[in-house]
Amino acid sequence: MASNSKIEWTTHTFNPWIGCTEVSPGCAHCYAKDMMERRYHRVEWGAGKPRSRTTADYWKQPARWQRRAQLAGNRERVFCASLADWLDHEVPIAWLADLLTLIQTTPQLDWLLLTKRPEHWSERLHEVVRLKHKGADTLAAAWLDGKAPTNVWLGTTVENQAQAERRIPLLLTLPATLRFLSCEPLLEAINLLKCLPSNVRSENRLHWAICGGESGKEARTFDLQWARSLRGQCQAAGVSFFFKQTGSHAIDSSEQHAMQHSLKDPKGGNLAALPEDLQTREIPTQRVPLRNGEVL
Ligand code: SF4
Repeated sequence: MASNSKIEWTTHTFNPWIGCTEVSPGCAHCYAKDMMERRYHRVEWGAGKPRSRTTADYWKQPARWQRRAQLAGNRERVFCASLADWLDHEVPIAWLADLLTLIQTTPQLDWLLLTKRPEHWSERLHEVVRLKHKGADTLAAAWLDGKAPTNVWLGTTVENQAQAERRIPLLLTLPATLRFLSCEPLLEAINLLKCLPSNVRSENRLHWAICGGESGKEARTFDLQWARSLRGQCQAAGVSFFFKQTGSHAIDSSEQHAMQHSLKDPKGGNLAALPEDLQTREIPTQRVPLRNGEVL
């Protein structure tokens, strides 16, 4: 499948806008901020700094992916906002409404909406409803009413236990066709059992966890044992597990040594070079109703 993304778990990335504010330890070495500061100088990061919307031409790309997927009779995944956060409340609300309209008009694409701000979901969707903009209010109102869009996978980042205990219960209360965790950069071992509130309905479950270590010169340590623990918990709970990369500073505390990195693979994402027991890259499948009532 052709892809415009180097990220192993998606077909495409799409950035409706660029810019954000750091909110938690996972943001400490935000590569998007670094990229803008060192190379592109397009936006400044932080509270009160204007976000930059991408061009109208760029926004036409998903319609092309949609047509291609429709012709091929398959689905393609789109990771939305690798250089931003889709629930950032400093983004003009009309931009979010435009994004939701785009999602609505590309039903053959599975939109992976990942956020570090699940607490903003309700407020932002209510704002879209009030805006009444290009039909996005219909999707937002239905979603608030519990009818999640079938082509959205809703995810949150959990980099440590504190964020896991804060964000996972929030994610589980949000209506979603499919819920996922991005445990990258994983900064410590996570105990998922401590994050599951007893009052959550059993159908409000997690479906997928992506796991990886931090890359870059200042990368923090990543212990492969944390990944093994997470994989075991996922297996026990029927959650698909995707090991993305060791990152640039990985250790294996079960063997008391640092991982050796190939210069050609500084992020440690080459599946064949990973320890055999972590060569796991599952992607959940989803049966999505089509307009004619069949399922894909
Ligand atoms: S939420 Fe994401 S894009 Fe925003 S600062 Fe944190 S890491 Fe960067």
